[in-house]
Amino acid sequence: MKIQGPKGTKDVLPSQAYKWHYIESKIRELCSINGYYEVRTPVFEHTELFERGVGETTDIVQKEMYTFMDKGGRSITLKPEGTAPAVRAFIENNIFNEPQPTKMYYITPCYRYERPQAGRLREFHQFGIEAFGTQDPYIDAEVISVGMALFKTLGIRNLELRINSVGCPKCRKEYNAKLKAFLHPELLHLCKFCQDRFNTNPLRILDCKEEKCKERLANAPYMLDNLCDDCKTHFEGLKKGLDIIGLDYIVDPKIVRGLDYYTKTAFEIVSNDIGSQGTVCGGGRYDGLIEVCGGPSTPGVGFGLGLERLLLIMESQGISIPEQEKIQIFIAAMGEKANDMAMKLMFMLREASIRAEKDYLSRSLKAQMKYANKIKAKNVIVIGDEEIQKEIIRIKNMENGQEVNVPLNNIDEIIKEMER
Ligand code: ATP
Ligand code: MG
Repeated sequence: MKIQGPKGTKDVLPSQAYKWHYIESKIRELCSINGYYEVRTPVFEHTELFERGVGETTDIVQKEMYTFMDKGGRSITLKPEGTAPAVRAFIENNIFNEPQPTKMYYITPCYRYERPQAGRLREFHQFGIEAFGTQDPYIDAEVISVGMALFKTLGIRNLELRINSVGCPKCRKEYNAKLKAFLHPELLHLCKFCQDRFNTNPLRILDCKEEKCKERLANAPYMLDNLCDDCKTHFEGLKKGLDIIGLDYIVDPKIVRGLDYYTKTAFEIVSNDIGSQGTVCGGGRYDGLIEVCGGPSTPGVGFGLGLERLLLIMESQGISIPEQEKIQIFIAAMGEKANDMAMKLMFMLREASIRAEKDYLSRSLKAQMKYANKIKAKNVIVIGDEEIQKEIIRIKNMENGQEVNVPLNNIDEIIKEMER
């Protein structure tokens, strides 16, 4: 029986991997310029980390986690996001004792049990950054700028940066009471999830995607209009920071990130080019998270950016990615002796960093030439009895059709002629 990959997973095939390499190299370059250093955390963690760090009331923890018992009877979860593991590593390795801020990034697979569709997979990949150890709103602006810079260097257009403030535990408490007073008469008209959220996390009701809930919430009070002085000042600071570095934004009081630990800044970067899963990057500030995960009280801010969605946007905007480099030379051979010579020559060329190939399927000369064409070899050498006897080979440039003779044993000369 043919075995298929699990639902919601996607192979990156050898012919396509260059796209990922390209994006990853741009990410690494950008992070280096901005002073973010890579953290690599395990693919699995103790389930409790996400229950605490993502939050019991979130969709991720309630519905989407890949959780199982390992053979030692521990509850293990495949990471659904990158922030909680980065926070765990920050605490466990006492990085909080080092001079702050701590700035890290990751490129990681994430696992969520969701209904697969365009831009929504069960295994997907995130690029994320985190800045720990400062409440300065200018670092929120910096974090946002790194996400925006990635889109810019990749040539992606038509993105909207939407920002909001979701307050802090102090002002949210008062606001929640206001919101609940507004919601109470509507409760029976809301979906089942929202009815549950009413008690656990009413703010999340504003984020519901159900049409009937959206209608009922049109006149709900916004957190943004109910911030305490501290949160208000912080939000003004964020806007000023974005203005200074020249990033356009839209203040959108409806943005409520899905994770429980967000405080103050919440933002999304949205594309209108890839349908309903248009949010390609989401993030914000989470000043309570490190403490919730057992560390010393430390503020933090970061984002997660979906790489599959990023690729979808690039595709829809017709942005081409430089293809991987082609074979520079194919060595065709006729007969056993010539085959041995081709083997030797190929390895000598590879030692000199030339991408060389030969035939491994005992093809006829004609078939070897056809194959060389197929793999788009830039040059071809043919070795037969005559070439071995005269110790002279002929290099054919497949792009312009030119041919030159070169001494068989002179690698430098061969390379020089190939590169003409
Ligand atoms: P959504 O509202 O689309 O479910 P989310 O709020 O769950 O997104 P985050 O947890 O903020 O998403 O993750 C950050 C980014 O990761 C998203 O903006 C998106 O680009 C990407 N992402 C999230 N879930 C998936 C998924 N199942 N498949 C592919 N990409 C995803
Ligand atoms: Mg989601």
